[in-house]
Amino acid sequence: MTQLLSDVDFSEICVGGLFGPGSGGTARSIDPTDGTLVADYGIAGLDNVEDAVAMGQAAMADPAWRNLKAHERARVLYRIGDMIEAHADAIAALQTRDTGKTLTETRALAMSAAGTFRYVASTLETLDEDLTPSRGPWVTMSVHEPLGVVAAITPWNSPIASDAQKVAPALAAGNAVILKPAEWTPLVSLFFARLAYRAGLPKGLLSVLPGPGRVIGDALVRHPLVKKVSFTGGTVTGVRIAEIAASKLMPVSLELGGKSPTIVFPDADIEEAIAGVLYGVFSSTGQSCIAGSRLFVHESIREEFVSRLVERAKALRMGRGDAPGTQMAPMIHHRHRDHVAAMVDAAVAAGARVLCGGEVPQGEFAEGAWYPPTILDTVTNTDTICREEVFGPVLAVLSWRDEEDLVAQANDNEYGLACGIWTRDYKAAWRIARRIEAGTVWINTYKQFSSSTPFGGVKDSGLGREKGRHWIQAYMNQKAIYWGMSEEPIGWG
Ligand code: NAP
Repeated sequence: MTQLLSDVDFSEICVGGLFGPGSGGTARSIDPTDGTLVADYGIAGLDNVEDAVAMGQAAMADPAWRNLKAHERARVLYRIGDMIEAHADAIAALQTRDTGKTLTETRALAMSAAGTFRYVASTLETLDEDLTPSRGPWVTMSVHEPLGVVAAITPWNSPIASDAQKVAPALAAGNAVILKPAEWTPLVSLFFARLAYRAGLPKGLLSVLPGPGRVIGDALVRHPLVKKVSFTGGTVTGVRIAEIAASKLMPVSLELGGKSPTIVFPDADIEEAIAGVLYGVFSSTGQSCIAGSRLFVHESIREEFVSRLVERAKALRMGRGDAPGTQMAPMIHHRHRDHVAAMVDAAVAAGARVLCGGEVPQGEFAEGAWYPPTILDTVTNTDTICREEVFGPVLAVLSWRDEEDLVAQANDNEYGLACGIWTRDYKAAWRIARRIEAGTVWINTYKQFSSSTPFGGVKDSGLGREKGRHWIQAYMNQKAIYWGMSEEPIGWG
């Protein structure tokens, strides 16, 4: 049975499955399309953090959860996946209002979350423990056990999908999870908690605590009973969390920012490459960690390629997230749009030439947080606009001469999240893919994901991997068991 969103009271936060007002008061969620109010939502206070941790501790120690066999726990996760899918339209509608994103994207994010729960459930059912080759008169084993209470801290750009990527494996591992969504987009996470409990998740195992990161997020990271932080967000925040984690000797996983190169060879299928470059940087209105924001096009085709690219960028359809056919929806928040506009203005002041976009649109778009697809020329790879993450619809055009020059430029950046390569030369694609410092390389495609393929960054783009067969074990402690089989006494003492 689906739940109507009008029934949901967003002023209630979720502490271990108990829904009620947060002790931090309320805040407003604003639709970036026109600045109207979406909902007042509850804010957690520090006492809510304490209660959520205590309830999580108790719930994961309860034999009703602790003693569930893997396939039984998997059943709960399958049911959560089904519940999310049954509410995918409602989730999409809510998320489109809360984030401005297109309905196509928000529906895909909901379905991705459902898929994550199912993939993790099936992995849980089929996870092996190791019987290791014994080097003495013992049976030796390596087994995995839950860590404890886990904090999941997520950003605003893909709520529900990024929530699921942390909550599903952490629950599968037998932990309790406290989710701290971003201040700008907490609504879908609160709705998700209701669905998880409706699907039969035992009380206490999941809390959703909206609130300022520097207060609620920080308290979770520092809490002595929080045993892991799984974080997605900016690199500056990630480093701060890692420093606190180091002082507690606590594992962290960090999915951070990017400044990804997207590379076009002269022999590429040009139509495909243009569509791929546009999709790679302008979909989600550029608010994507993996945005291919540095274009490296071979100098021999630069003029023609860029001219066609600009024409196509100008033709992208900007509009409301709920309007059919929209490709470029508003940005998440007026403050973020202003930040992106200021970065473009600074680049122009430093010598960049605007080939398209570059100005806050007026007229029908004046009220919303819109920014048009923007392509900048006459920049160098060392300019700020090519070094720092914009997290908006801004592409910088660069070119390359030979493969050495290409690899040197592409790798000359603090980030290492993703890379796109467009070529028909499969050997060249392989050579470049292996030399680029990135967690993911897409060849003749971009921004595609599979739950079974590990994802994460290198350099300032992060630490650890999500997805794949070892996803659940990243939320577990490994324990060795030696089982003595010798008939001989140890003979000591
Ligand atoms: P952010 O400012 O780092 O915030 C991320 C989350 O951390 C939010 O929930 C935030 O809460 C919380 N937070 C802030 N300060 C904190 C603190 N001192 N202690 C604990 N938590 C704290 O990032 P954002 O602006 O929301 O997201 C954009 C960034 O995320 C971009 O850099 C993007 O590349 C990155 N990202 C990476 C991936 C990936 O998979 N690699 C995916 C998506 C996004 P508040 O909202 O309350 O401040």
